Amino acid sequence: MTGPRAARLETVRARMAELEIDVLLLSLGADLPWLTGYEAMPLERLTMLVVPREDLPTLVVPRLEAPRVDEDPEVFRIRSWGEQDDPVQIVAALSSLAGSVKEVAVSDRAWATFVLALQATLPGAYWRPASAVTGPLRAVKDEEEIAALVAASAAADRVAAQLLAGDIALSGRTEREVSQEIGRRLIAEGHQKVNFAIVGSGPNSASPHHDAGSRVIQPGEPVVCDFGGTMDGYCSDITRTVWTGEPTTEQRDLYDVVREAQSAGVAAALVGATCEGVDTAARAVITDAGYGDAFIHRTGHGIGLEEHEDPYIVEGNETPIVEGHAFSVEPGIYLPGRFGTRIEDIVVVGRSGPLALNHVTHDLTVVSA
Ligand code: ZN
Ligand code: ZN
Ligand code: ZN
Repeated sequence: MTGPRAARLETVRARMAELEIDVLLLSLGADLPWLTGYEAMPLERLTMLVVPREDLPTLVVPRLEAPRVDEDPEVFRIRSWGEQDDPVQIVAALSSLAGSVKEVAVSDRAWATFVLALQATLPGAYWRPASAVTGPLRAVKDEEEIAALVAASAAADRVAAQLLAGDIALSGRTEREVSQEIGRRLIAEGHQKVNFAIVGSGPNSASPHHDAGSRVIQPGEPVVCDFGGTMDGYCSDITRTVWTGEPTTEQRDLYDVVREAQSAGVAAALVGATCEGVDTAARAVITDAGYGDAFIHRTGHGIGLEEHEDPYIVEGNETPIVEGHAFSVEPGIYLPGRFGTRIEDIVVVGRSGPLALNHVTHDLTVVSA
């Protein structure tokens, strides 16, 4: 076995053995494309990869979807089904080939319709989410995945650089207009899909996941821009806070705290540290400055085929950091009704230290636009 997907299949099998899972059933979600390169359509017709612990996996796919599947005989065989077939019976039969099934893991995003039907045909089995198998595996990126993340981050960086350079007009436009322009620029820079473009201006900057709306951006206020998309399957995600005029002393001071917290978080992203440790390192800077209560979210999230995936950089997550982990470091301070600020970069953990994938300056930037 040589290809990256074949190598992934081997890690899946090893983990299935470790967890004593007899069969892994992958449908909707990112696990299936991670393993096969094929993404299931969210349809009433079932698509499901049956991964037994030993045999070659089988992709059960509607006949009319089969032409979209790129074959990879090292990783799976295809079993297409026609309109008169019962795909649930086919999956159940393939699952039971090696004998009675005791432990099943199924896609976290599989439709309940299919899970319930499968449970009825495999009575007595114990069911758990596929993420128990795939989460920690997908969290560790291989070379090909890191290259894809680097490219996606570089594309998002180009848009962030345009924002900081004042190429995207802010004052006098609605947040929604700016959000749409950021989206267009993400596509122009090589993304196939825009996942989100948060634009929170003035008091709205205090709401971390603010929906860009009809508020007209005023001169002399902070604007939090948090955006990302999907490029060749992998996601980007970056936040910069810019000002449409001179910030107040308080705003400058808070920005400095967030910038220092962000660097502290990145510096703590070392092999052998824990996910919780990265959160603590960033949070300590903000808490020491007296704004602990104003940092109302975790420090970051894993990123890859999905915007948010393992590992989560949050208090209580004692997962050790290993080479190949990729995640955001995005501390912020939010003063409700007044203003907020956040800085976010994606980081990949290398053997000799953290590698930031975003390179756009963290210097407080006042845009003339
Ligand atoms: Zn977020
Ligand atoms: Zn973000
Ligand atoms: Zn993020």
